[in-house]
Amino acid sequence: MTFQFASRMQHVGPSAIRELLRLGADPDVISFGGGYPDASLFPTDALSRLFRDVLEARGATALQYTVSNGIAPLRAQIAARARRDGIACDADQVLILNGGQQGLDLVAKMMLDPGDVVITEDPTFLGALVAFAPYEPRYRAVRMDDQGMDTDDLLRVLQAGPRAKFLYTVPDFQNPTGVTMSLPRRRRLLELAREFDLLVLEDTPYRALRFEGEAPPTLKSLDTDGRVIHLGSFSKLLAPGLRLGWAIAGDELIQRLGLLKLAGDTQCGTLAMEVVSRFLDGYDLDAHVERIRRTYRRKRDVMLRTIEACFPPHIAFTRPQGGMFTWLTFPAGFDAARFMAETMLPRAKLAYVPGESFFPVAGRANHARISYSTQDEDTIVRGMTLLGGMLTEALG
Ligand code: PMP
Repeated sequence: MTFQFASRMQHVGPSAIRELLRLGADPDVISFGGGYPDASLFPTDALSRLFRDVLEARGATALQYTVSNGIAPLRAQIAARARRDGIACDADQVLILNGGQQGLDLVAKMMLDPGDVVITEDPTFLGALVAFAPYEPRYRAVRMDDQGMDTDDLLRVLQAGPRAKFLYTVPDFQNPTGVTMSLPRRRRLLELAREFDLLVLEDTPYRALRFEGEAPPTLKSLDTDGRVIHLGSFSKLLAPGLRLGWAIAGDELIQRLGLLKLAGDTQCGTLAMEVVSRFLDGYDLDAHVERIRRTYRRKRDVMLRTIEACFPPHIAFTRPQGGMFTWLTFPAGFDAARFMAETMLPRAKLAYVPGESFFPVAGRANHARISYSTQDEDTIVRGMTLLGGMLTEALG
């Protein structure tokens, strides 16, 4: 039969990100592409005990439906952690989500009619572009540098109009660039948001993975008039397979997002919420995150050192202070996707993420995202040395 798909399906294609997840799953390919956490750091033993304990002690509750915003104890624990990070909130301003990714979908669903404008960093998180796509936005992309979103360029975009429905930013160790927005930029961004009456969507899955230096405050903690929706996630702190994240926002926004959550998937899995709540009660999440930070920090150091030693000098790379990614800038005219398809994969079974699809408006071919989280240190050295050799051959 001929299916009469909704017009929005024109914007839902096989995405680059799906291709990458598939590539990353091929055991023969050494992938620096996928944004997977290091699985050896998952707290498997603790979770295994907790799943059994929760099922034995509270099976009837843990396997039952529950409230759509998420179980109250976990909302309270998330609110308490957010307050420690300077965000004034209580459990009622927390909505538990099926990963931070669901927050991207729900905010777009709440705000966007076809053709509405969304402002993003340039480049921005590919998964956000994929989440927003069915709602058919138009983008205005704001330049970035090593201080994060360039607020002078943001002012230009805001003045040029049309008025945007919201601004999306990943201020901490951004995916894909690894860059963190400086405090002056954060303050200026919010000043402009107030002046132009703009809703801000702050996405922070990497925030706790800081290796060094002082964390600038979240946009949400600097938000004086309830215009920031803050997203967080347990994916990089515990395990992405639990599919638990959260939104923090004022009452009206959380209520509306909660109604959309109810309509879409009723609630997050009660069992996973019960287990994570018990984990936060009985285990030291901060100590666990500290282990993750130490491991990623070593991996970052090894990766940057090897890049420095082995890559041609005219390839630029960012020096992230946390998170999982560095961002390569090749000379103009270099096609990173083609290089991967024609050289890296056939010759060395090496993969990164070509940067083009992270640009919401005009793709640039001469970038790639490389992740240091997944592979072990030896593989990072071997992979970057091989890549450096191939790049030297190609670029001189
Ligand atoms: N936002 C950003 C910036 C991300 O990098 C990711 C994961 N790669 C997500 C959101 C979604 O993560 P999750 O749904 O697993 O919480």
